[in-house]
Parts: sequence; structure tokens; C-alpha cells
Amino acid sequence: MQSDGYREQGLRSQLVAELAKKGIADQNVLAAIGKIPRHVFMDSAFIDFAYADKAFPIGAGQTISQPFTVAFQTQLLNLKKGDKVLEIGTGSGYQTAVLLEMGAKVYTIERQRELYHKVQQMLPPMGYHPQFFYGDGYLGKPTYGPFDKILVTAGAPSIPEKLLPQLKVGGVMVVPVGDKQQRMFRIVRTNETDFTKEDFGDCMFVPMLEGVNRG
Ligand code: SAH
Repeated sequence: MQSDGYREQGLRSQLVAELAKKGIADQNVLAAIGKIPRHVFMDSAFIDFAYADKAFPIGAGQTISQPFTVAFQTQLLNLKKGDKVLEIGTGSGYQTAVLLEMGAKVYTIERQRELYHKVQQMLPPMGYHPQFFYGDGYLGKPTYGPFDKILVTAGAPSIPEKLLPQLKVGGVMVVPVGDKQQRMFRIVRTNETDFTKEDFGDCMFVPMLEGVNRG
């Protein structure tokens, strides 16, 4: 693993201050971001970018989400210690690490084989142990559910219907919905049959695609 020294820690505290200024108020989210070495999730040559509030390419045509986006989505989840969370789009594994750092039990699905393998090598040595799945997130993981929280980290053209019944009653799903640009939605399952939907504004994600990519 790459080193995590004073320079990285300093840049990270600045990032946390920036996120707080931009409106992230959940102290547990800020603490997790303050602790996780984001540069390890990217090439070490890009350290200065690792702590800029920007998305960045991670290979296989995918990106590590912008820190603000990770923080904002996580804050919308109202995450509690011990929550069982389904994450769609493992990507770099950074968001997965944030959820685990906050005490969630995480089931994460990725459709790009290359990323799925890479993250499995990377997270466990850092002490992060989600359950990894290679597959199509549109299907969710019904045999492992129901979940307290579902977090979709790719832009879905419409609300992924098969995920809804995998939420517990009282459970929360955060999902960006739209084609080129998305709106961030928070969906709460209020009882067996009903869901509420709140709109948290514009956002931009790589698309949520169907099926798997074996490349
Ligand atoms: N949470 C990630 C964000 C990665 S970008 C991070 O912090 O790095 C979104 C990811 O969703 C990409 O890796 C993409 O391959 C994946 N993805 C897109 N559609 C998917 C689907 N149907 N099922 C699972 N993963 C999907």
C-alpha cells in the first residue's frame, strides 16, 4: 500500500473543511473522509488531485466519484452503525470504504470485471471487508436482503424497480436518476406497498448499464 504521511493527512483535513463549507454536516461522514487515504484509490502520481473535490478516471472508462458526491449521497442515507447496505457500482471502492468506516455492513456489486478484481485485492489489506459481487446491480441481491439502505452510484435512466422490494420498511435508497444528467432522489419505503420520493437536485454520474462487462 502507498504511504499515508503528513502531506496526505494535511490535504485530507483541507478537503474535509471544504466539504463542511459546501454543506456536509454529518460528522460521521466527515470523520470517515478525514480518515480514508483517497490517494490509495488512485495512482500515486495524482496525489494532488486525490484531495481536490473532483471526480477522476480509474480505468475501464469509469470514475471515482467526486468527494462531495460521496459525502452528499452518504449523508442522504442517514447511515447508522450496523446498517445493512447494498451498494450498486463498487468502482474504485472508495465509497465502499466510507460506508464500512461508518460501521455499515456492505454488499457491493460491480459489473466491470476488471474493477471487481482490482478492488478485491485492495480493500481487505486496508481492513475493509465488504461482500463483493460481480453482476448486474439492476437485479440487486434479493437473497441477501432486505437492506436498511441501498446506494446507487451510477446514473439510472429510471428508478431501478427490482431494488425497491429489497428495501426494509423504513429503509432508504439514494439514487441518481436521468440520462445525460441526473437528479438525486431519496426514496423511503414507508410500508409494505408505499414509497416516498424526495428530489435533491442536479448531479452527474457515469451511466448505470445493464448486464456485465467481462473485459
Ligand atoms: N462508488 C464508486 C463510483 C464509481 S462510478 C466510487 O466511489 O469509486 C460507478 C460504477 O458503477 C462504475 O464502476 C460502473 O462500472 C458501475 N456500474 C454501472 N452500472 C452498473 C450495474 N448495472 N451494476 C453494477 N455496477 C454498475
